[in-house]
Amino acid sequence: MSTLLDVDGLTVEYAGPTGNPVQACVDITFTLSRGEILGVAGESGSGKSTLITALTRLQRPPAITTAGRVIHHPRDGEPVDLIPLSERRLRRYRWTSLSIVLQSAMDALNPLMRVGDQFTDVLRTHDRTLSKTAAHQRARDLLAMVGIPGERARAYPHEMSGGMRQRASIALALACEPDLVVMDEPTTAVDVVMQRLILQQIIRLRRELGFAVIFVTHDLPLLLEVADRIAVMYGGRIVEIGDAASLYTNPLHPYTRGLRDAFPPLRADKHLMTGIPGSPPDLRDPPPGCAFHPRCDQATATCATERPHPHAVQERMVACHLSGAPR
Ligand code: SF4
Repeated sequence: MSTLLDVDGLTVEYAGPTGNPVQACVDITFTLSRGEILGVAGESGSGKSTLITALTRLQRPPAITTAGRVIHHPRDGEPVDLIPLSERRLRRYRWTSLSIVLQSAMDALNPLMRVGDQFTDVLRTHDRTLSKTAAHQRARDLLAMVGIPGERARAYPHEMSGGMRQRASIALALACEPDLVVMDEPTTAVDVVMQRLILQQIIRLRRELGFAVIFVTHDLPLLLEVADRIAVMYGGRIVEIGDAASLYTNPLHPYTRGLRDAFPPLRADKHLMTGIPGSPPDLRDPPPGCAFHPRCDQATATCATERPHPHAVQERMVACHLSGAPR
């Protein structure tokens, strides 16, 4: 598979109350292939939301990207770094190359407009040759693609169930056939039956349409259902990234193991859930050494003073002193 996105050294800071910057994402580096689903997991405060607002250029002050590149490789044409792109050029990218699905569909859908009209607005803004009739038909087709009868295009968002709204917002994100869809906890606000249906639809649509996904959630077992690879974030850094199945069955980073065991598995046998003791680090004053050391049951004296650097282990990148890193 060819590369779609190259994220290299992405660092995002917030201006702190005392003037000292707070680093919410540090040196984030990964590649995403065309058609790949990359899951990003971590507790709240791990930096995953900051990461997606930086990737999609939706961040607002006081957050600032202070370093790094996000190189998009279009199907035709030269690679483009999204970070320095002007708003005018970004508008051309949004929807057609890159779109986003938010946690709550009510944040994406305008409550005062019929759902179908929101589709035709997006479609006709990006294709001025499209007639109203053709745009309405396309809206109905897009809704049908996620299992919503075309006549529901006339409904207002509040006339749809939560699950239907979320599926409509996924269809809207796909309206202009982007090659990357960033999904921020897209199944958190729906029940488990709808969650399963949405995951199945994402997998089917990805197979049929070939778009790539960055799927962000706090729920690691859920990612096993949908992701090809998983990146685990802690304290603003990626601490482990690799193939989804092997990362889940054999986590190399103690935090990945803790996150896995903190949720019930969706398919495997029941197991005793064990939470991770303590709280995520305060990024205004992160601990020295490994940011996870105050919560890690395997921490050594070195962990409290030396930060582990990401290194390759078993076809994964892991940032932990215990996983064979050169010191
Ligand atoms: Fe635990 Fe040390 Fe590994 Fe950090 S580097 S996860 S503290 S063992």
